Amino acid sequence: MGRYMMALDQGTTSSRTVIFDKEGQIVSLAREEFNQIYPSPGWVEHNPMDILSSQLNTIKSALEKAGIKASEIESIGITNQRETTVVWDRFSGKPVYNAIVWQCRRTAEICNALIEKGLSDYVKDTTGLVIDAYFSATKIKWILDHVPGARADAKNGRLIFGTIDTWLIWNLTGGKVHATDYSNAARTMLYDIHKLDWDAKLLVELDIPASMLPEVRNSSGSYGSYMLSGTELPINGVAGDQQAALFGQACFEPGSVKNTYGTGCFMLMNTGEKPLKSKSGLITTIAWGIDGKICYALEGSVFIGGAVIQWLRDEMRLIETSAESEELAESIKDSGGVYIVPAFVGLGAPYWDMACRGIITGITRGTGRRQIVRAALEAIAFQVKSILEAIETDEGIWIKSFKVDGGASANNFLMQFQSDILNVEVERPAVVETTALGAAYLSGLHSGFWTSLEDIKNNRIPDRLFIPNMQQKERISLYNGWKNAVLKATNFNGLS
Ligand code: ADP
Repeated sequence: MGRYMMALDQGTTSSRTVIFDKEGQIVSLAREEFNQIYPSPGWVEHNPMDILSSQLNTIKSALEKAGIKASEIESIGITNQRETTVVWDRFSGKPVYNAIVWQCRRTAEICNALIEKGLSDYVKDTTGLVIDAYFSATKIKWILDHVPGARADAKNGRLIFGTIDTWLIWNLTGGKVHATDYSNAARTMLYDIHKLDWDAKLLVELDIPASMLPEVRNSSGSYGSYMLSGTELPINGVAGDQQAALFGQACFEPGSVKNTYGTGCFMLMNTGEKPLKSKSGLITTIAWGIDGKICYALEGSVFIGGAVIQWLRDEMRLIETSAESEELAESIKDSGGVYIVPAFVGLGAPYWDMACRGIITGITRGTGRRQIVRAALEAIAFQVKSILEAIETDEGIWIKSFKVDGGASANNFLMQFQSDILNVEVERPAVVETTALGAAYLSGLHSGFWTSLEDIKNNRIPDRLFIPNMQQKERISLYNGWKNAVLKATNFNGLS
């Protein structure tokens, strides 16, 4: 048995390879950025060959950095930027078009047409998703509609589709395996997350031949192997990035939540064997499938998370570094009644007001940069609370644990305030590479490198636990203040 586990973490701006030991500790990490292609406003593409070569380069560098041989690796896990779409020729291996990235808005019109046709409820009921350009389905259609000859080649079985996991697996196995896992399939807007099958009606609606689609497999299971320096490395785990992070955070029980504090915030809550249908506009998705047993999750995102701190730094110039915000916020006992609603691009779940814009309220003569900085950090926590509150009242499921990762989770003030405002313990792990770790765990679980979920849980070393330390009265009063500020932001737009 190998001594290490290798995770390939194929992200939106870079490809990374992380090698872990049996304790789940990082042995080495290699990262390579690749080119972002913006052909017109709102369009985002990647060259699939760049994705592949950058990923392969990092495999080599991670091994070199660790000073270990391929034969010392037990197996590989893959995690990836989700929804990004590649269509390629199964005979030549050549993509017929660049990868259309999840952020790309070019298919908004196709989505509007589906909505106008009255398909919103159908899509929500079968795929768990809201109709949006974000997901793969309309991106595949766009490629088939716009690349000359593509639809005919797709119909005669020549062209195949994959999200980035599938593209990597196909290439790593020398074209032998065309497969994806449940979590990635659930992001295509073509997969019935209840029947666990591709949905025939949606395929007809979008004129996508079923022969293009990958086989859907367990997230912890066999995906063939990659031949490296004479060693066959089995690919034994696959999951989309957010789901992998949920797994890497050991959120195995219903009610356990992971929240990633990056540019935006990505929240996933494990809901167990039951797919819950949110009334607050959250997405129902598959967290993972193991031994054919599906674990579901609810997913919600905050558009502006750490980005509000970036804004204070780069546009308002109130701070020099993001990290400085912690000290400034802690230097005062409260924000002095100041609230910032960072609705720079509207507000997502549970408010869903795309037209409203940001505001700052409660400014007095005594308001200074410390109050503004503190209010900005608090706004991140309030937005996360409103999503969780919506889930709790909507779905009757309660937060059992709350685990954090992402750049802004380093901010101790923010984490303590989050714990205070949620009245829940917030746990920050020592290994912050939770996405890669999740892929490693999924792979290692199938290889027998780790024997059980318990085994994985025991690996977990918390860096810090934040325990709620706020009176209920204060919690309610602060949160009411936030809700009032949100009302003003939404009303303001109505008046203007
Ligand atoms: P992404 O993966 O979305 O690029 P990261 O996980 O790297 O984001 O997190 C970066 C974001 O977190 C930035 O918006 C930055 O402003 C914010 N951030 C980083 N460190 C801190 C900090 N100590 N306090 C508050 N915000 C921070």
